[in-house]
This record gives sequence, structure tokens and C-alpha cells, in this order.
Amino acid sequence: MSEPTVFERIAAGEIPATKVFESDRVLGIRDIAPKAPVHLLLFPKAADYANVTELAAGDPALLAELVAAAQQLADEHTGGQYRLVFNTGAEAGQTVFHVHAHVLGGGLTEASL
Ligand code: AMP
Repeated sequence: MSEPTVFERIAAGEIPATKVFESDRVLGIRDIAPKAPVHLLLFPKAADYANVTELAAGDPALLAELVAAAQQLADEHTGGQYRLVFNTGAEAGQTVFHVHAHVLGGGLTEASL
């Protein structure tokens, strides 16, 4: 068994986080180190998929749910417009290998992720 990911531990209530979205299978939280005025994370509660490519292949409905949740969060937090980022691979900046979407907004610069 591999170690649980930080997002699994947040979903299990073992690590505190500021929740902004929750459904049966998806959790949304504020990023602990925001890189934009609005920087939220969305991820499946279960760590079945390491990245968005695996998620798209394995459970496209869950990926669609993440995207719908991103729009809902953008409507609530950034006036409906947002940047959706899935870092995929360590060289692309991925540090947590449990698929997650960064929802960024509220005055973005080119350097926001
Ligand atoms: P990535 O670099 O794309 O894998 O994104 C991982 C993100 O998770 C980073 O933006 C981190 O700031 C964020 N992060 C890591 N640990 C926590 C935590 N305990 N609570 C909220 N966000 C976190």
C-alpha cells in the first residue's frame, strides 16, 4: 500500500482545509499557497487517478463533474471566468500525484502557474 495522498487525507478529515465545494465524489478547497487572488483546488475524494490523462481515460464522467464544479466555483468566486490548470508530471510542476484541478481567477497574470 502506498502512502495516502495529501488530498485523500484532507478528504478523510485528517488534515484541515477550507472547503469550498463538496459532492459525493469531489472535494473543492482553497489552495494553501495561493498563486492568484482566487486559487481553489478540485479533486476526486478517492486517489484512483494520478493525473488528468488517467482520469479522462478511466472515468470521463468524473472529469466532467470536476469541470462543472470548476464553473460553479468560478461563478461563486470570480464572476464566472477562470483558468483551469492540471499540472501533469513533475517537470510540469505536479507535486501531488492525485489528480486535481487548479481553479484560478480574480486578476490573473501570465505567471499564475
Ligand atoms: P501541483 O503542484 O499541481 O501538484 O499542485 C498541488 C497544490 O496543492 C499546490 O498548489 C499546493 O499549494 C497545494 N497544497 C498542498 N498541500 C495542501 C494543503 N494541505 N491544503 C491546501 N492545498 C495544498
